[in-house]
Amino acid sequence: MARYTGPDCKLCRRERQKLYLKGTRCEGPKCAIEKRPYPPGEHGRGRIRESEYLLQLREKQKARRIYGVLEKQFRNYYEEATRHSGLTGENLLMLLEMRLDNVVYRGGLARSRDEARQMVRHRHFQVNGRTVNIPSYRVRVGDVVTVRERARNMVPIVGALEIIGSRTIPAWLSTDQTKLQISVLDRPARGQIDVPVQEQLIVELYSK
Ligand code: SF4
Repeated sequence: MARYTGPDCKLCRRERQKLYLKGTRCEGPKCAIEKRPYPPGEHGRGRIRESEYLLQLREKQKARRIYGVLEKQFRNYYEEATRHSGLTGENLLMLLEMRLDNVVYRGGLARSRDEARQMVRHRHFQVNGRTVNIPSYRVRVGDVVTVRERARNMVPIVGALEIIGSRTIPAWLSTDQTKLQISVLDRPARGQIDVPVQEQLIVELYSK
């Protein structure tokens, strides 16, 4: 499965804001945005001509980068969002939130979405008792995501549990720290999705 393999911090610098792609490092003084809060490259500190298109493009890129989704797959999510009833932008975010890697991260069993994705790929999680190794797998209301027995003491899981108290688990998920289990209680509402993205601008970009 194709994915971005370059430096994460460069993506935050491109968007000129923290996208929290690297777990605990993002909270510390080593965060690249704290040290160099301007886009990478030779012209990073140059003047940028803001245009409507640029604003829309940046919102779309930001959303893609937060969820770790490449352009084609993101476009597919958008197309699907247009087919659902309700606001397309909110549908788009809801579809992204219900990816298995995001649920593992949101539920507090991984420190970042990248880490969650890798653990899913390595077959460390089960959904309703069946091993799933597809990060984009879409969970449904009522699903139960568990850590497999063999992975319970792995460093990323233990590390995630150490900081779970400082994380806010959204109300549409419920995490049992003893059983290492996340239950999907509901679909996420827009107010429960705390990503710094103006989804309406993405809709405007794609509907041109
Ligand atoms: Fe972004 Fe985290 Fe890197 Fe800071 S440390 S620039 S928030 S990925």
